[in-house]
Amino acid sequence: MLRKLRMKCPSCGHWNRVSVNKVFIEQPNPEPKVKVLIPTYEPLEVSKCEKCGKVIAEPKELIKIVKEGCSFEPKEG
Ligand SMILES: [Zn+2]
Repeated sequence: MLRKLRMKCPSCGHWNRVSVNKVFIEQPNPEPKVKVLIPTYEPLEVSKCEKCGKVIAEPKELIKIVKEGCSFEPKEG
């Protein structure tokens, strides 16, 4: 599921759009009968800030939607 995520550059504060793939990861749970799936976003490519060039997202680093400075953009994707 391809989505566009808005990510705030931690360095300069510029908002960037990042192409991501929505994936669910399983959260370890003390109750084995209950599966807890956490929605995360996997960047498709290394994304750099348009303004300062700092790398803000990498494919190996999954983004949790709760992460500060991240907002979902439902109109695109
Ligand atoms: Zn920046």
